Amino acid sequence: MKIDFPLDCLKDIPTPFYYYDIDVLDQTLHQLQREAAAHAGFSVHYAVKANANPRILQRIRQAGLGADCVSGGEIEAALQAGFKADGIVFAGVGKSDWEIELALRNDIFCFNVESREELEVINLLAEQMGKTAQVCFRINPEVGAHTHEKITTGKAENKFGIAMTDLESVIHLAMCLPSIRFIGLHFHIGSQILEMDDFKRLCFRINHLQDRLEAQGIVPQHINVGGGLGIDYEDPQAHVVPSFKVYFDTYAQCLRLREGQQVHFELGRAVVGQCGALISRVLYIKVGVEKRFLILDAGMTDLLRPALYHARHRMENLSAREEARSGEEEYDVVGPICESSDVFAQSVLLPESHRSDLIALLSSGAYGEAMASQYNCRRLPASYFSFDFQH
Ligand SMILES: *Cc1c(COP(=O)(O)O)cnc(C)c1O
Repeated sequence: MKIDFPLDCLKDIPTPFYYYDIDVLDQTLHQLQREAAAHAGFSVHYAVKANANPRILQRIRQAGLGADCVSGGEIEAALQAGFKADGIVFAGVGKSDWEIELALRNDIFCFNVESREELEVINLLAEQMGKTAQVCFRINPEVGAHTHEKITTGKAENKFGIAMTDLESVIHLAMCLPSIRFIGLHFHIGSQILEMDDFKRLCFRINHLQDRLEAQGIVPQHINVGGGLGIDYEDPQAHVVPSFKVYFDTYAQCLRLREGQQVHFELGRAVVGQCGALISRVLYIKVGVEKRFLILDAGMTDLLRPALYHARHRMENLSAREEARSGEEEYDVVGPICESSDVFAQSVLLPESHRSDLIALLSSGAYGEAMASQYNCRRLPASYFSFDFQH
Protein backbone atom coordinates (compact mmCIF):
# COMPACT_ATOMS: atom_id res chain seq x y z
CA MET A 1 0.00 0.00 0.00
CA LYS A 2 1.25 3.49 -0.88
CA ILE A 3 0.09 7.00 -0.06
CA ASP A 4 -1.31 8.29 -3.31
CA PHE A 5 -1.42 11.91 -4.51
CA PRO A 6 -3.85 12.72 -7.36
CA LEU A 7 -1.80 15.64 -8.71
CA ASP A 8 -4.38 16.52 -11.39
CA CYS A 9 -6.92 17.27 -8.65
CA LEU A 10 -4.54 18.81 -6.14
CA LYS A 11 -2.71 21.25 -8.37
CA ASP A 12 -5.57 23.76 -8.68
CA ILE A 13 -6.36 23.98 -4.95
CA PRO A 14 -5.03 27.04 -3.08
CA THR A 15 -2.14 26.04 -0.80
CA PRO A 16 -1.29 25.21 1.91
CA PHE A 17 -3.80 22.51 2.80
CA TYR A 18 -4.00 19.06 4.37
CA TYR A 19 -4.68 16.12 2.12
CA TYR A 20 -5.92 12.84 3.65
CA ASP A 21 -5.67 9.54 1.83
CA ILE A 22 -8.75 7.76 3.19
CA ASP A 23 -7.73 4.40 1.72
CA VAL A 24 -4.64 4.57 3.94
CA LEU A 25 -6.77 5.48 6.97
CA ASP A 26 -9.23 2.65 6.27
CA GLN A 27 -6.46 0.09 5.80
CA THR A 28 -4.84 1.25 9.04
CA LEU A 29 -8.12 0.99 10.96
CA HIS A 30 -8.86 -2.41 9.47
CA GLN A 31 -5.50 -3.88 10.48
CA LEU A 32 -5.63 -2.20 13.88
CA GLN A 33 -9.03 -3.66 14.71
CA ARG A 34 -8.12 -7.07 13.33
CA GLU A 35 -4.93 -7.32 15.39
CA ALA A 36 -6.60 -6.06 18.57
CA ALA A 37 -9.46 -8.53 18.13
CA ALA A 38 -6.94 -11.39 18.07
CA HIS A 39 -6.62 -10.94 21.85
CA ALA A 40 -9.57 -11.41 24.18
CA GLY A 41 -10.38 -8.32 26.23
CA PHE A 42 -8.32 -5.81 24.16
CA SER A 43 -10.07 -2.65 23.02
CA VAL A 44 -8.79 0.50 21.34
CA HIS A 45 -9.66 4.13 21.92
CA TYR A 46 -8.54 6.79 19.48
CA ALA A 47 -6.62 9.69 21.06
CA VAL A 48 -8.63 12.58 19.63
CA LYS A 49 -5.88 15.13 20.20
CA ALA A 50 -3.85 13.65 17.33
CA ASN A 51 -6.42 14.83 14.80
CA ALA A 52 -9.92 16.10 15.58
CA ASN A 53 -11.00 16.80 12.01
CA PRO A 54 -14.73 15.86 12.01
CA ARG A 55 -14.53 13.69 8.90
CA ILE A 56 -11.53 11.81 10.26
CA LEU A 57 -13.31 11.32 13.59
CA GLN A 58 -16.40 9.93 11.86
CA ARG A 59 -14.34 7.44 9.89
CA ILE A 60 -12.62 6.24 13.06
CA ARG A 61 -15.91 5.98 14.93
CA GLN A 62 -17.36 3.91 12.07
CA ALA A 63 -14.47 1.48 12.51
CA GLY A 64 -15.67 0.88 16.07
CA LEU A 65 -13.00 2.56 18.20
CA GLY A 66 -13.74 4.42 21.43
CA ALA A 67 -12.42 7.94 22.08
CA ASP A 68 -9.73 9.19 24.44
CA CYS A 69 -10.29 12.89 25.15
CA VAL A 70 -8.14 15.42 27.01
CA SER A 71 -10.54 18.39 27.14
CA GLY A 72 -14.23 19.28 27.19
CA GLY A 73 -13.91 20.43 23.60
CA GLU A 74 -12.63 17.02 22.57
CA ILE A 75 -15.52 15.30 24.37
CA GLU A 76 -17.92 17.54 22.41
CA ALA A 77 -16.10 16.79 19.14
CA ALA A 78 -16.23 13.04 19.84
CA LEU A 79 -19.96 13.12 20.70
CA GLN A 80 -20.66 15.20 17.60
CA ALA A 81 -18.82 12.64 15.46
CA GLY A 82 -21.12 9.97 16.87
CA PHE A 83 -18.87 8.29 19.45
CA LYS A 84 -21.01 6.73 22.17
CA ALA A 85 -20.54 8.31 25.58
CA ASP A 86 -19.89 4.90 27.14
CA GLY A 87 -16.83 4.57 24.88
CA ILE A 88 -15.27 7.90 25.93
CA VAL A 89 -12.47 8.28 28.47
CA PHE A 90 -11.36 11.67 29.78
CA ALA A 91 -7.70 12.24 30.70
CA GLY A 92 -5.59 15.27 31.56
CA VAL A 93 -3.75 16.81 34.54
CA GLY A 94 -5.97 19.89 34.71
CA LYS A 95 -9.67 19.30 34.19
CA SER A 96 -11.84 22.39 34.69
CA ASP A 97 -15.14 22.16 36.57
CA TRP A 98 -17.20 22.76 33.42
CA GLU A 99 -15.32 19.96 31.66
CA ILE A 100 -15.95 17.53 34.50
CA GLU A 101 -19.64 18.53 34.56
CA LEU A 102 -19.91 18.06 30.79
CA ALA A 103 -18.43 14.58 31.12
CA LEU A 104 -20.74 13.68 34.02
CA ARG A 105 -23.82 15.04 32.25
CA ASN A 106 -23.06 12.80 29.27
CA ASP A 107 -22.26 9.73 31.39
CA ILE A 108 -18.86 9.03 29.81
CA PHE A 109 -17.22 5.69 30.52
CA CYS A 110 -14.37 6.84 32.73
CA PHE A 111 -12.25 9.69 34.10
CA ASN A 112 -8.51 9.07 34.11
CA VAL A 113 -7.69 10.84 37.36
CA GLU A 114 -4.23 12.28 37.91
CA SER A 115 -4.31 13.50 41.52
CA ARG A 116 -6.06 13.16 44.88
CA GLU A 117 -7.13 16.81 44.58
CA GLU A 118 -8.85 16.12 41.27
CA LEU A 119 -10.55 13.02 42.70
CA GLU A 120 -12.11 15.08 45.48
CA VAL A 121 -13.42 17.71 43.04
CA ILE A 122 -14.93 15.06 40.76
CA ASN A 123 -16.61 13.46 43.77
CA LEU A 124 -18.08 16.79 44.85
CA LEU A 125 -19.38 17.73 41.40
CA ALA A 126 -20.79 14.22 40.83
CA GLU A 127 -22.55 14.35 44.19
CA GLN A 128 -24.15 17.70 43.31
CA MET A 129 -25.39 16.25 40.02
CA GLY A 130 -26.61 12.98 41.54
CA LYS A 131 -24.15 10.98 39.44
CA THR A 132 -21.49 8.36 40.10
CA ALA A 133 -18.17 8.94 38.33
CA GLN A 134 -16.21 5.90 37.20
CA VAL A 135 -12.48 6.51 37.62
CA CYS A 136 -9.17 4.98 36.68
CA PHE A 137 -6.04 6.31 38.30
CA ARG A 138 -3.27 7.43 36.04
CA ILE A 139 -0.10 6.09 37.59
CA ASN A 140 3.32 7.50 36.83
CA PRO A 141 5.20 4.21 36.29
CA GLU A 142 8.66 5.81 36.18
CA VAL A 143 9.35 4.10 32.90
CA GLY A 144 11.34 6.27 30.49
CA ALA A 145 10.85 5.79 26.77
CA HIS A 146 13.35 6.09 23.94
CA THR A 147 11.81 9.14 22.38
CA HIS A 148 12.17 12.93 22.32
CA GLU A 149 12.36 14.44 25.82
CA LYS A 150 9.38 16.70 25.07
CA ILE A 151 7.16 13.66 24.53
CA THR A 152 8.11 11.36 27.40
CA THR A 153 5.49 11.37 30.10
CA GLY A 154 6.16 8.41 32.37
CA LYS A 155 9.15 9.60 34.37
CA ALA A 156 9.11 10.87 37.96
CA GLU A 157 10.01 14.41 36.83
CA ASN A 158 7.00 14.67 34.46
CA LYS A 159 3.84 16.42 35.63
CA PHE A 160 1.63 13.47 34.73
CA GLY A 161 0.03 10.88 36.99
CA ILE A 162 0.01 9.73 40.59
CA ALA A 163 3.21 8.43 42.22
CA MET A 164 3.32 4.65 42.67
CA THR A 165 3.91 5.11 46.38
CA ASP A 166 0.55 6.90 46.72
CA LEU A 167 -1.44 4.31 44.80
CA GLU A 168 -2.96 2.38 47.71
CA SER A 169 -3.91 5.51 49.60
CA VAL A 170 -5.78 7.07 46.64
CA ILE A 171 -7.57 3.80 45.94
CA HIS A 172 -8.68 3.61 49.56
CA LEU A 173 -9.83 7.21 49.41
CA ALA A 174 -11.79 6.46 46.21
CA MET A 175 -13.50 3.55 47.91
CA CYS A 176 -14.70 5.85 50.67
CA LEU A 177 -16.01 8.62 48.43
CA PRO A 178 -19.75 8.17 47.83
CA SER A 179 -19.92 9.41 44.22
CA ILE A 180 -16.81 7.67 42.90
CA ARG A 181 -16.47 4.15 41.53
CA PHE A 182 -12.87 2.97 41.18
CA ILE A 183 -12.60 0.74 38.10
CA GLY A 184 -9.00 0.62 36.99
CA LEU A 185 -5.46 1.76 36.39
CA HIS A 186 -4.19 3.98 33.60
CA PHE A 187 -0.68 4.49 32.20
CA HIS A 188 0.86 6.39 29.31
CA ILE A 189 4.64 6.58 28.97
CA GLY A 190 5.09 8.82 25.93
CA SER A 191 4.76 9.10 22.21
CA GLN A 192 6.53 8.04 18.98
CA ILE A 193 7.85 4.89 20.69
CA LEU A 194 9.31 2.32 18.31
CA GLU A 195 11.17 0.07 20.74
CA MET A 196 8.90 -2.67 22.04
CA ASP A 197 11.22 -2.99 25.05
CA ASP A 198 9.79 0.28 26.37
CA PHE A 199 6.29 -1.21 26.33
CA LYS A 200 7.64 -4.44 27.86
CA ARG A 201 9.09 -2.50 30.78
CA LEU A 202 5.69 -0.87 31.27
CA CYS A 203 4.07 -4.33 31.34
CA PHE A 204 6.52 -5.59 33.97
CA ARG A 205 5.82 -2.53 36.09
CA ILE A 206 2.07 -3.11 35.80
CA ASN A 207 2.52 -6.78 36.77
CA HIS A 208 4.42 -5.74 39.85
CA LEU A 209 1.77 -3.19 40.86
CA GLN A 210 -1.01 -5.71 40.28
CA ASP A 211 0.70 -8.21 42.59
CA ARG A 212 1.04 -5.53 45.24
CA LEU A 213 -2.64 -4.59 44.98
CA GLU A 214 -3.85 -8.17 44.84
CA ALA A 215 -2.11 -8.88 48.14
CA GLN A 216 -4.53 -6.34 49.60
CA GLY A 217 -7.53 -7.79 47.85
CA ILE A 218 -7.71 -5.13 45.13
CA VAL A 219 -8.21 -6.35 41.56
CA PRO A 220 -9.02 -3.52 39.15
CA GLN A 221 -11.35 -4.43 36.31
CA HIS A 222 -9.65 -2.25 33.68
CA ILE A 223 -6.00 -1.78 32.74
CA ASN A 224 -5.47 1.13 30.35
CA VAL A 225 -1.93 1.10 28.95
CA GLY A 226 -2.21 4.37 27.00
CA GLY A 227 -0.84 4.90 23.51
CA GLY A 228 2.50 5.94 22.11
CA LEU A 229 3.15 3.53 19.26
CA GLY A 230 5.30 5.38 16.72
CA ILE A 231 5.32 5.56 12.94
CA ASP A 232 8.09 5.59 10.32
CA TYR A 233 8.78 9.24 9.52
CA GLU A 234 11.99 8.37 7.64
CA ASP A 235 10.41 6.14 5.03
CA PRO A 236 6.63 6.43 5.28
CA GLN A 237 5.92 4.86 1.89
CA ALA A 238 7.68 1.66 3.02
CA HIS A 239 5.67 1.46 6.28
CA VAL A 240 2.30 3.02 5.65
CA VAL A 241 0.57 0.86 8.28
CA PRO A 242 2.35 0.43 11.65
CA SER A 243 3.16 -3.06 12.99
CA PHE A 244 0.06 -3.46 15.12
CA LYS A 245 0.57 -7.20 15.40
CA VAL A 246 3.98 -6.84 17.03
CA TYR A 247 2.60 -4.13 19.32
CA PHE A 248 -0.41 -6.10 20.59
CA ASP A 249 1.57 -9.35 20.79
CA THR A 250 4.06 -7.59 23.06
CA TYR A 251 1.29 -6.71 25.52
CA ALA A 252 -0.37 -10.11 25.19
CA GLN A 253 2.90 -11.85 26.04
CA CYS A 254 4.11 -9.56 28.83
CA LEU A 255 1.01 -8.43 30.73
CA ARG A 256 -0.20 -10.88 33.38
CA LEU A 257 -3.93 -10.35 33.49
CA ARG A 258 -6.43 -11.41 36.12
CA GLU A 259 -9.64 -13.16 35.18
CA GLY A 260 -12.01 -10.90 33.26
CA GLN A 261 -9.66 -7.92 33.10
CA GLN A 262 -10.09 -5.63 30.12
CA VAL A 263 -7.08 -3.98 28.47
CA HIS A 264 -7.54 -0.57 26.85
CA PHE A 265 -5.20 1.09 24.37
CA GLU A 266 -5.22 4.77 23.42
CA LEU A 267 -3.53 5.22 20.06
CA GLY A 268 -3.34 8.52 18.23
CA ARG A 269 -0.31 8.92 16.00
CA ALA A 270 -0.29 5.31 14.83
CA VAL A 271 -3.91 5.63 13.64
CA VAL A 272 -3.80 8.86 11.65
CA GLY A 273 -0.12 9.79 11.17
CA GLN A 274 0.52 8.32 7.74
CA CYS A 275 -2.79 9.12 6.05
CA GLY A 276 -2.23 12.89 6.05
CA ALA A 277 0.15 15.16 4.16
CA LEU A 278 0.55 18.91 4.24
CA ILE A 279 0.58 20.16 0.66
CA SER A 280 2.33 23.45 -0.01
CA ARG A 281 3.80 25.40 -2.88
CA VAL A 282 7.32 26.68 -3.44
CA LEU A 283 7.25 30.47 -3.32
CA TYR A 284 10.92 31.16 -4.00
CA ILE A 285 14.26 29.47 -4.29
CA LYS A 286 16.42 31.98 -2.46
CA VAL A 287 20.13 31.72 -3.08
CA GLY A 288 21.87 32.78 0.12
CA VAL A 289 25.56 33.22 0.91
CA GLU A 290 26.14 29.62 1.91
CA LYS A 291 22.79 27.99 1.44
CA ARG A 292 19.98 27.57 -0.96
CA PHE A 293 16.60 28.17 0.71
CA LEU A 294 13.45 26.60 -0.53
CA ILE A 295 10.74 28.91 0.81
CA LEU A 296 7.30 27.32 1.13
CA ASP A 297 3.91 28.96 1.61
CA ALA A 298 3.33 26.54 4.53
CA GLY A 299 4.98 27.24 7.86
CA MET A 300 5.03 26.34 11.52
CA THR A 301 1.47 27.65 11.87
CA ASP A 302 0.34 24.79 9.61
CA LEU A 303 2.72 22.09 10.88
CA LEU A 304 4.32 22.84 14.23
CA ARG A 305 6.18 19.60 14.94
CA PRO A 306 9.54 20.52 13.37
CA ALA A 307 9.68 23.81 15.32
CA LEU A 308 8.32 22.26 18.54
CA TYR A 309 10.23 18.96 18.70
CA HIS A 310 12.84 19.15 15.92
CA ALA A 311 10.71 16.56 14.18
CA ARG A 312 11.57 15.62 10.60
CA HIS A 313 9.00 15.04 7.88
CA ARG A 314 9.87 13.36 4.62
CA MET A 315 9.19 15.66 1.66
CA GLU A 316 8.21 14.89 -1.90
CA ASN A 317 8.27 17.34 -4.76
CA LEU A 318 5.10 16.17 -6.52
CA SER A 319 5.63 18.42 -9.57
CA ALA A 320 9.18 17.20 -10.11
CA ARG A 321 8.03 13.61 -9.86
CA GLU A 322 5.35 14.23 -12.50
CA GLU A 323 7.89 15.76 -14.89
CA ALA A 324 10.52 13.12 -14.06
CA ARG A 325 13.17 15.77 -13.31
CA SER A 326 16.38 13.98 -12.48
CA GLY A 327 18.84 16.54 -11.02
CA GLU A 328 19.05 16.98 -7.22
CA GLU A 329 19.94 20.00 -5.10
CA GLU A 330 20.57 20.56 -1.40
CA TYR A 331 18.08 22.91 0.27
CA ASP A 332 17.11 24.33 3.61
CA VAL A 333 13.32 24.10 3.51
CA VAL A 334 11.68 26.94 5.43
CA GLY A 335 8.29 28.57 5.96
CA PRO A 336 7.24 32.22 5.76
CA ILE A 337 6.61 32.84 9.48
CA CYS A 338 8.63 35.51 11.29
CA GLU A 339 10.44 33.07 13.59
CA SER A 340 13.89 31.58 13.11
CA SER A 341 12.52 28.21 14.22
CA ASP A 342 10.18 28.12 11.23
CA VAL A 343 12.36 25.55 9.46
CA PHE A 344 11.13 22.20 8.12
CA ALA A 345 14.52 20.73 7.28
CA GLN A 346 18.14 21.68 6.83
CA SER A 347 20.42 20.47 4.05
CA VAL A 348 18.02 18.00 2.49
CA LEU A 349 18.40 16.63 -0.99
CA LEU A 350 15.36 17.20 -3.18
CA PRO A 351 14.84 17.14 -6.92
CA GLU A 352 15.79 20.45 -8.48
CA SER A 353 12.82 22.62 -7.53
CA HIS A 354 11.17 25.69 -9.02
CA ARG A 355 8.68 28.34 -8.03
CA SER A 356 5.10 26.93 -7.87
CA ASP A 357 6.15 23.30 -7.45
CA LEU A 358 3.87 21.35 -5.10
CA ILE A 359 5.68 19.91 -2.09
CA ALA A 360 4.08 17.23 0.10
CA LEU A 361 5.23 16.99 3.73
CA LEU A 362 4.43 13.37 4.50
CA SER A 363 3.33 11.73 7.77
CA SER A 364 1.47 14.86 8.85
CA GLY A 365 -1.87 13.30 9.77
CA ALA A 366 -1.13 13.31 13.51
CA TYR A 367 -0.40 16.49 15.50
CA GLY A 368 -0.47 18.45 12.23
CA GLU A 369 -3.82 20.06 11.52
CA ALA A 370 -4.70 19.71 15.21
CA MET A 371 -1.83 22.04 16.20
CA ALA A 372 -2.40 24.65 13.48
CA SER A 373 -2.65 28.25 14.66
CA GLN A 374 -3.42 31.68 13.25
CA TYR A 375 -0.16 33.25 14.41
CA ASN A 376 0.84 36.08 12.05
CA CYS A 377 -2.91 36.40 11.26
CA ARG A 378 -2.64 33.44 8.92
CA ARG A 379 -5.58 31.43 7.71
CA LEU A 380 -6.00 27.95 9.12
CA PRO A 381 -5.14 25.30 6.53
CA ALA A 382 -8.11 23.71 4.74
CA SER A 383 -8.49 19.93 4.45
CA TYR A 384 -9.30 17.69 1.49
CA PHE A 385 -9.98 13.97 1.34
CA SER A 386 -9.17 11.41 -1.33
CA PHE A 387 -12.82 10.38 -1.61
CA ASP A 388 -13.74 13.96 -2.64
CA PHE A 389 -11.92 13.38 -5.93
CA GLN A 390 -13.03 9.88 -6.84
CA HIS A 391 -16.04 10.79 -9.00
C1 LIG B 1 -1.43 11.83 23.72
C2 LIG B 1 -1.98 10.72 24.48
C3 LIG B 1 -2.21 9.49 23.87
C4 LIG B 1 -1.89 9.22 22.41
O1 LIG B 1 -0.53 9.25 22.14
P1 LIG B 1 0.01 8.75 20.72
O2 LIG B 1 1.47 8.84 20.86
O3 LIG B 1 -0.52 9.68 19.70
O4 LIG B 1 -0.46 7.35 20.52
C5 LIG B 1 -2.77 8.49 24.63
N1 LIG B 1 -3.07 8.67 25.94
C6 LIG B 1 -2.86 9.84 26.57
C7 LIG B 1 -3.22 9.97 27.98
C8 LIG B 1 -2.29 10.90 25.87
O5 LIG B 1 -2.07 12.05 26.51
